[in-house]
Amino acid sequence: MPGPARSSSGLTLMAVHAHPDDEVLGTGGVFVRYAEEGVRTVLVTCTNGEQGDGPGGVKPGEPGHNAAEVVATRLAELRKSVAYLEVSDVELLGYRDSGMVGWAANADPGVFCNVPLAEPAERIAALMRKYRPQVVVTYDANGNYGHPDHIQAHRAAVAAAEATGIPAKFYYSAVPKSAFARLRDALVASGADIEELDIPDDFGTPDEEITTEIDVSAYVERKREALAAHGSQTENSFFTRLPDDVVTLALSYESFTLRSAPSGLARENDLFAGMR
Ligand SMILES: [Zn+2]
Repeated sequence: MPGPARSSSGLTLMAVHAHPDDEVLGTGGVFVRYAEEGVRTVLVTCTNGEQGDGPGGVKPGEPGHNAAEVVATRLAELRKSVAYLEVSDVELLGYRDSGMVGWAANADPGVFCNVPLAEPAERIAALMRKYRPQVVVTYDANGNYGHPDHIQAHRAAVAAAEATGIPAKFYYSAVPKSAFARLRDALVASGADIEELDIPDDFGTPDEEITTEIDVSAYVERKREALAAHGSQTENSFFTRLPDDVVTLALSYESFTLRSAPSGLARENDLFAGMR
């Protein structure tokens, strides 16, 4: 059987995410930018997002929250989102969402964070062998904000990269602390209730750890449409309701930390720097 079609550039970007909707904020812009440059773009989504909001923002465990319905809704939303983001290939691993840290679902042996690491690592390794991505992006070791599924996605993607040796460059998505501080100030000035987002106080990556910053300002509207596609999740409607200048500030740059970066690496503005 022939393998997947190669991109016109011969380059492939793979992003490994935990839930349907995680693809937008930190990597939506790079998906569009690289797709438009002829790069094949692959999204791996590890869970089905069962612990997301049900109709009307109903939370898991509350009346009216039906996991199967939430999954159907969220996967339909994901299909819309990836069309806006020009993702060429979507791979769903289908694991069960573990919920936020401290939620009852964390204790369920069947949820993603409790699956022995070797299994998702081998499945992601198989996808790396199938697509041969030169560049892979996932979260940092803390899952960027401590979500157990984001941490498991990080561990599985790192293990897959190490087992296959396929990605030449492996990145952690990042929000620089300085950019987050500017955004927080702009949100407060706009009158938005940032407590609604429940972001940890220590959120963000120290600026000196950022190796790569991509200007995706041309694709802010695409990211906004992709977020709106995930409309069942109330935190996404938070972003889509913000004033235009705040949305532009929040969505115009995507930053990354190159794993095992050589010391003295000059800051890059291209995930494929050095590979063309
Ligand atoms: Zn997530």
